Amino acid sequence: MEIFGPYIDFAADTRDGDIFKVIVAAEWLGERFISYDAPQAIYYKGARTGEITAIRFPPDAENAKYYKPDGMALKEIISDVPLKTIRVTSPFNLGRLHPILKVRKPHNGVDLAAPIGTPVYAFADGVVRVAGERGAMGNMVQIDHSGQVSTYYGHLHRFASGIKGGVRVRRGQVIGYVGSTGRSTGPHLHFGYRKKNAWFDPMKFLSIKTTNEKMIVTSLKEGFFRRVKTMLAFLDAIDTGEKGPLAPGQRQDEVTAPLPAEKEKEETPEAGEEKTEATKGDKEGEKTEKRTNWNSEWQDD
Ligand SMILES: [Zn+2]
Repeated sequence: MEIFGPYIDFAADTRDGDIFKVIVAAEWLGERFISYDAPQAIYYKGARTGEITAIRFPPDAENAKYYKPDGMALKEIISDVPLKTIRVTSPFNLGRLHPILKVRKPHNGVDLAAPIGTPVYAFADGVVRVAGERGAMGNMVQIDHSGQVSTYYGHLHRFASGIKGGVRVRRGQVIGYVGSTGRSTGPHLHFGYRKKNAWFDPMKFLSIKTTNEKMIVTSLKEGFFRRVKTMLAFLDAIDTGEKGPLAPGQRQDEVTAPLPAEKEKEETPEAGEEKTEATKGDKEGEKTEKRTNWNSEWQDD
């Protein structure tokens, strides 16, 4: 989904009957399934979105990118945000009258509404200084970045696995999940930004940028276009639903013909046609949020 992020808004643009195909390599140890790798090819065709295909290249490289079949690299989202959706319910305010304690108490961060369990992302590369319970902040993560900047993430439901003091994190890495721990009257993230021991309004530092589409470098072109041919053949071989949608959990290869003969060695192409289950989930989540009055003064710490 993230790969198509700059192109398709999966919360708004998807419709029943849209077609979604993915080819992923599955790792097997004998008969035992180990894991899925990054998608090698993705295809989406929708009433609102039009048609878009993405091919990963070089297939196994760590720094692989996704390209359209014509060789243009897909735009990528570069974000410095702790949550995908930023909805401020209580702004940064150093002279705030605290809603629970009824005393002047600075609000040294912003409160961002989100349902419990929403992933929280590291604002920038850094080192986890704190990942533990901190009074009113509940389960809190502090990350130290370069330039004497630290960011704070409060009221977490839980920490992401492996997040503890001393661990290095990358921008955009999931560090925990939204909760309502500590002094909090509803699920939200308290996000704080501190530089050289002074608090700043974090909203001033949030940014979402999109890179441009760029042609694949010449030295990779030949191999890329060979790869495109193979991947498009795999995608074509996926039968999408004239026979009706797949049952949940049913695999495409249980339903249709074998894949093209030039199948690559280590790869076990998996194919699935879905009616965007994930999207339906998102929409339900959205409704739930709308029923809740996030504007009320229920805020935290
Ligand atoms: Zn707060």
